Amino acid sequence: MSDCLFCKIISGAIPSSKVYEDDQILAFRDIAPQAPTHILVIPKTHIPSVDGITAENSAVVAHIFAAIPAIAAAEGLTGGYRVVSNCGADAGQTVHHLHFHILGGKPLSLEMA
Ligand code: 5GP
Ligand code: ZN
Repeated sequence: MSDCLFCKIISGAIPSSKVYEDDQILAFRDIAPQAPTHILVIPKTHIPSVDGITAENSAVVAHIFAAIPAIAAAEGLTGGYRVVSNCGADAGQTVHHLHFHILGGKPLSLEMA
């Protein structure tokens, strides 16, 4: 999508600090980290949010979750980490291209809402 920020990061039109990339997905550092390690993992196909995941496109989501442990290990997140996806206005989703936050590097607050 031409007006999507994360599609522009995928195309290279907007630079990012990449930590992992393959033919299906990209992982890069969040520009405003909420924890010592804060990485976003996105599919290279434009899916607007968790609400846009279907039986037809969910293989890339499985691929993302297969990659996350290796990304976390490469970042040295031996103490654990959190994976979050905000979906829609009430969750505070600001970029409407599916993404999973990996947060870690310190003990995280247990507050969820
Ligand atoms: P959301 O609020 O939609 O769950 O998460 C969007 C995330 O994208 C936020 O954590 C925000 O800091 C991050 N973000 C917004 N614009 C950019 C950008 O241009 N580059 C990078 N690397 N992250 C961004
Ligand atoms: Zn997009």
